[in-house]
Amino acid sequence: MTTVHEPAVTTRADDLSVWPASTARQDRGDLAVGGVPLTEIADRFGTPVYVLDEGEVRARCRTYRDAFPEAEVLYAAKAFLCRAMAHWVEEEGLGLDVCSAGELELAVTTGFPPERIVLHGNAKSPHDLETALRLGVGRIVIDSPSEIARLAAAVGTGGHQRVMVRVVPGISAGGHEKIRTGTDDQKFGLTLTDGYAQHAIARILDQPQLELTGLHCHLGSQITSVKPYLAAVRRMVGLTARLRDAHGVVLPELDLGGGHGIAYRPGEEALDLTTLARKVRAELVESCAAAGLPVPRLLIEPGRAIAGPAGLALYHVLAVKRTADRTFVAVDGGMSDNPRPALYGVRYAPRLIGRHSTAEPAPVTVVGRHCEAGDILASDVRLPGDVHPGDLLAVPVAGAYHLSMASGYNLVGRPPVVAVDRGHARLLVRRESLDDIRSRDVGL
Ligand SMILES: *Cc1c(COP(=O)(O)O)cnc(C)c1O
Repeated sequence: MTTVHEPAVTTRADDLSVWPASTARQDRGDLAVGGVPLTEIADRFGTPVYVLDEGEVRARCRTYRDAFPEAEVLYAAKAFLCRAMAHWVEEEGLGLDVCSAGELELAVTTGFPPERIVLHGNAKSPHDLETALRLGVGRIVIDSPSEIARLAAAVGTGGHQRVMVRVVPGISAGGHEKIRTGTDDQKFGLTLTDGYAQHAIARILDQPQLELTGLHCHLGSQITSVKPYLAAVRRMVGLTARLRDAHGVVLPELDLGGGHGIAYRPGEEALDLTTLARKVRAELVESCAAAGLPVPRLLIEPGRAIAGPAGLALYHVLAVKRTADRTFVAVDGGMSDNPRPALYGVRYAPRLIGRHSTAEPAPVTVVGRHCEAGDILASDVRLPGDVHPGDLLAVPVAGAYHLSMASGYNLVGRPPVVAVDRGHARLLVRRESLDDIRSRDVGL
């Protein structure tokens, strides 16, 4: 993704480079996103609240379509999904990548064409597979040997289902160990190096009701270099050539997964899409020519790079505690609405909103309200030294893997999602209430 860089004279605290492109400075330290002042959103919808810039989501979808005009771009729904998001993605011409019956059914029941959906998962339940077949999902990505017979039986003789196979290319890439999926020693896919993938593919080809359209790989998440993708292209084309030699099949598709890295804080590196598109295309053409193969149709599956930078989270400060070593700024949310710092040590850049402070910036640790010492949203960040209860803080780049990973911890209720676009704010997902929580609690 291209990021807009502020002139060098701006201080770091005033750097808006990781914010949505629509972000505009307002009076009294406020910011407007999608034409709506953030203080207004906090007043109207309460905090914590997620704000999603519809124009930014759509622009990011278009950037992908423009960079990869000949590829099928599938948005990875697990980053963030609600009915409006499914509509935007569909209208912008993308497909959808889902990994459960829930994601699949939500999308299809809101009108997403099932043939443009790909179902993934290292452990698909019988319900996942039944739902996929019932709704007519475009492709199912086989992830384990046992799935082949199960799926073939579920499709039935005379039936037909397009499938891909998840291959582990043996490439280490990604922002953190917990989100690396291209290496041999993790739970996803079938390994190339010890022949598991080739063996499984031979069995898939033996099932007349399963049509293998291509290989799939997903290296991991938060990858900021193009190189691992080029290595993946070479290995996948190599396997495609061996399958042609062994079985006489030429697979027409190749899915390179997602994982395109974004910047969470000003100055952090992001994967450059234009470079990725150009180099992947060149590598694909070259490797296929060398192997005497036609160039397969490319599929890519960005999640974070579409939703992440389009969203932000707003919190009110509830308490400020100064100890000998640190200042803790506690907000009205935390690990239940953003578990990522606790899970992978992700770092964010919160910003004071709606008040112009002349106090010198001072190092603080922004913590949540939950009953764990590890409930930290941002450690060692700089906020104005006079930060106090009642202040509003905004955390940019909160559009992906926030609500979708949110939990019910401490029964605080998950925050609402508010869409902003051209000066209007509208509620997409309402706040989880105690009534919602109580309605599931059916025993005594
Ligand atoms: C998670 C995932 C993606 C998307 O990853 P991002 O880092 O959000 O781009 C794409 N494909 C598969 C198979 C995934 O598991």
